[in-house]
Amino acid sequence: GFLDEVGALPADEPEWVDDVTTQPVLAVVGRPNVGKSTLVNRIIGRREAVVEDVPGVTRDRVAYDALWNGRRFTVLDTGGWEVDATGRAAQIAAQAEVAAQTADAVALVVDARVGATVEDRAVAKVLQRSGKPVLVIANKVDDERVEADAMELWSLGLGQPYPVSALHGRGSGDLLDAVLAILPEAPADRDPIGGPRRVALVGRPNVGKSSLLNRLTGETRSVVDSVAGTTVDPVDSMVELGGESWRFIDTAGLRRRVSHASGTEYYASLRTASALDAAEVAVVLIDATESIAEQDQRVITMVIEAGRACVLVFNKWDLLDEDRRLKLEKEIDWELRRIKWALRVNVSALTGRSVDKLAPALRTALEGWEQRVPTGRLNQWLGELVAATPPPVRGGRQPKILFATQAGTRPPRFVVFSTGFLEAGYRRFIERRLREDFGFTGSPVGVSVRVRE
Ligand code: GDP
Ligand code: GDP
Repeated sequence: GFLDEVGALPADEPEWVDDVTTQPVLAVVGRPNVGKSTLVNRIIGRREAVVEDVPGVTRDRVAYDALWNGRRFTVLDTGGWEVDATGRAAQIAAQAEVAAQTADAVALVVDARVGATVEDRAVAKVLQRSGKPVLVIANKVDDERVEADAMELWSLGLGQPYPVSALHGRGSGDLLDAVLAILPEAPADRDPIGGPRRVALVGRPNVGKSSLLNRLTGETRSVVDSVAGTTVDPVDSMVELGGESWRFIDTAGLRRRVSHASGTEYYASLRTASALDAAEVAVVLIDATESIAEQDQRVITMVIEAGRACVLVFNKWDLLDEDRRLKLEKEIDWELRRIKWALRVNVSALTGRSVDKLAPALRTALEGWEQRVPTGRLNQWLGELVAATPPPVRGGRQPKILFATQAGTRPPRFVVFSTGFLEAGYRRFIERRLREDFGFTGSPVGVSVRVRE
C-alpha cells in the first residue's frame, strides 16, 4: 500500500516539484455521441487515442498531447469522466463545470444535425458562467447542406459556431487555428545547452574528490577557464570518460586542495551549490570507510533540491573489509532510503578500481532526468493505477483524479489534476509506481497536485 512510503522523504518538497507550468489544456465537452472522441482524434492526428465504438462506454484514456502550427497543448476528452450527479443532464453539466475549472479553454461539441438540445443549453450556461474562453463546435457538418443548421447554434450565446466534420476532417484546420488563438502560450522548455554533459563532483571534505578528479583526468587533463580575469576563477575540467568528453564544473578548489581553515565549510557549500546549479548531473562522493555522516546527507539534500540527476559513488573501496562492507550495506539501506533511485558505483580513486563504471552510470542518470512519458500513455497508466488503488477518503470525501500531464523534464515533473487534496503519502505512492513502470533511474521525480473543485 502507499502508506509504506510515508516518512521516506523530508516533509518539505523541493521548490522545483511545485514550480511547474503545464502546457495549455483544452477540454472537449458535450453530450454523449456528439463526436467528442472523434474530434479529439482529429485534433491529435490519431496518434494516441482510440475511439470506442460503443457509445457511453467509460474511456480509460482522457488526456492527450496535441501539436498544431508548432504549438503544443493538452486535449482532454471528458467523455470518460465520472462525476457525482444524478440524472444525465446534471451529470453532463457537472462534467462541463469541472472541465471549465481545470482547462484553459473549452470546446463545446454539439451535433449540428440535431441542433441545440436542452442539455446543450444547460452546458452552455455553465460555460458562460465559468468565464473561460469557449468555442462552440458544430459537429457532423459533413457537407454544405448542414452548414445552415450549424449557424443556428449562435443561439447558445457563446459566439460564432465552428462547423466541422470530425469524422472527415472538414473545417478542422480553421478550428485548430481558433483553438490556438484562445489558448495561452505554452511555457518554453528549458533547452539543453549542448556541448559536453556537465558534471558536479561533490562531497564532504576528505572523501577523495581531488584524488578522483586526478585519477579521471590523468595525464590528459585540460583545464577550461570559464571566467577569465577574475580573482577567484571558477575553473572547469574536461574529462574523457567512456569515449566521451564531460565537463566537470568548478574544479579549481579540488585541484588546488584548499586547506580546511575555519569558514571553509561554508565556502565549500556555496561552491557546491553553484557547481550543482551549473551542472546536469552530480557525482556524490562518499567515503565508504566511514559512517554516512550528517555532512553527506546535507550534500545529497542539496542535489535533490537543485533537481539534478545523481550518481552515488562510494570511494576508498580498497580499504574495505568484509565486516565494513556488510555494515555499509545496512547503513545505505537506512540512511540513503530517500535516494534509492540513484545508481551506486564503488570505486577506489587510489587504485582506479571500477572508475570505468562511472560513465555508463552518468549516462543512465541523464536519460532518466530527460525522460518524457506521452500524455495518452501516462493517463492510461494512471487510470489503471487509480482504479486499483484509489486515493484515501478525506473528510468523508473521495477525491477524484481527473488526469495528469508531465509538465517538464530535467528533472521529470508531473502534475495530477484532482477534485480534492491528495496527501503526501499518495503522491509518493504515485511517484514510486511511476518509477517502477517507467524507470527514471538516477533522477529525482516530482509529483504535484492541482485541485479543482
Ligand atoms: P462522443 O460520445 O461524444 O465521444 O462521440 P463519438 O466520438 O464516440 O462519436 C459518436 C458517433 O458519431 C460515432 O459513431 C462517430 O463515428 C459519429 N461521428 C462523429 N463525428 C462525426 C461527423 O463529423 N460526422 C458524422 N457523420 N458522424 C460523426
Ligand atoms: P577531498 O577533500 O574530497 O578532495 O579528498 P582528497 O582527494 O584530498 O582525499 C582525502 C584523503 O583520502 C587523501 O589522503 C587521499 O590520499 C585519500 N584517498 C582518496 N581516495 C582514496 C582511495 O580510493 N583509497 C584510499 N586508500 N585513500 C584515498
